[in-house]
Amino acid sequence: MRHLFTSLLLLALTIIQARPSFAYTPLSDATLRHLPRLFSSSSSSPSSSSSPSSSSSSSENYSDGFDPDFDPTHGALLAPILRPRVPGTPGHAAVQEHFAAFARDRLHAGWAAEWHNTTSATPATGDRAVPFRNLVLRRDPPWTTAPAPAPASASASREGDVARLTLAAHYDSLYRPEGFVGAVDSAVPCALLLFVARAVDAALTRRWEAAERSGEAGLDGEEKGLQILLLDGEEAWVEWSERDSLYGSRALAEAWERTRYEAGSSFSTPLEAISLFVLLDLLGAAEPNIPSYFPKTHWAYQNLAKIEERLRKLDLLETKPRKPFLAESGKEATRFRGFVQDDHVPFMRRGVDILHIIPSPFPSVWHTMDDDGPHLDVPTIRDWAKIMTAFVAEWMDLEGYFPDMAPSDAGDKYSEKEEL
Ligand SMILES: [Zn+2]
Repeated sequence: MRHLFTSLLLLALTIIQARPSFAYTPLSDATLRHLPRLFSSSSSSPSSSSSPSSSSSSSENYSDGFDPDFDPTHGALLAPILRPRVPGTPGHAAVQEHFAAFARDRLHAGWAAEWHNTTSATPATGDRAVPFRNLVLRRDPPWTTAPAPAPASASASREGDVARLTLAAHYDSLYRPEGFVGAVDSAVPCALLLFVARAVDAALTRRWEAAERSGEAGLDGEEKGLQILLLDGEEAWVEWSERDSLYGSRALAEAWERTRYEAGSSFSTPLEAISLFVLLDLLGAAEPNIPSYFPKTHWAYQNLAKIEERLRKLDLLETKPRKPFLAESGKEATRFRGFVQDDHVPFMRRGVDILHIIPSPFPSVWHTMDDDGPHLDVPTIRDWAKIMTAFVAEWMDLEGYFPDMAPSDAGDKYSEKEEL
């Protein structure tokens, strides 16, 4: 523990020195006000998609209590995940198909979807090898994925030059109690990641098309991609231990440590190419309290908290919690102690920067049969969707690229001074 902490501090110093090259543009108030329009499944499909709208409701007002994405019974993103999905069972396969269909039908063709498969024995299943399948959804700037011209230009960006904001959640559910649904654990976080991918998709397309038109593509030395990890096998089958937990994330972190990019790339491995690993877990209950767990990424926590604060000031969030979800922006350096064991650990041990969005205390329904659809707080989920979408949009520099904004919206740039 102590050893780990020391190395984190050393890495933190390196990062602080490297940060000046990192562009991070806050969204304007106008863009924040646009976020609610990204909600209905009908209005936010990719503009290039020909799929018909799956919902007649495109209202920004959900006072009728029905959300087309996150309604626990009928929501297009969430409802298909709200079922037992123990690895190797039909429910598990059905949820995998839901993710694959979403990526195929609802996201831009520029997304790559890749299954990372592994198997492992578990203490509950004895010698029978259980299949675990992580789904990696990745969208990189198009000029980094195009076949390199021959002879390859030394300056052309490639796969190994893309730093990827990586958002993760686990989709497997607990083996026992039988019938456990795991709504906050972690069906809702998975649905949130699908939402965010769809919500920023058209703006990403516009941003990258503009860069290609202006001839700036690949010239600013900072390629940014977006990656969604739907991880399998997070749960312990009998009792949490190093070997009985994190089956999917352990295998993926190991595989990515071994995978080498071609010589001369900015990064040597996909693991090194993760700019920030944002792990969502146990979200969907009312009044979450999300601590800042790591000094090294406290700046990213502060950015996220700032977004929540601005959205609340603009009256764009529906919940009125006693405290903000992210209330530790002012946390003192000496008060960071301990963290929650979760899917980030195999990545963190290999030097990846982590932002862990998990409440403490855990929701009261945690690992009980009450962690189901009826116990979710849908307004809280919708607020998380806005907060996370804005965070990703800022990270990906999407200010000015959200479509369908009235011209009159465009003038009011965010001008609040950043306090030091
Ligand atoms: Zn769990």
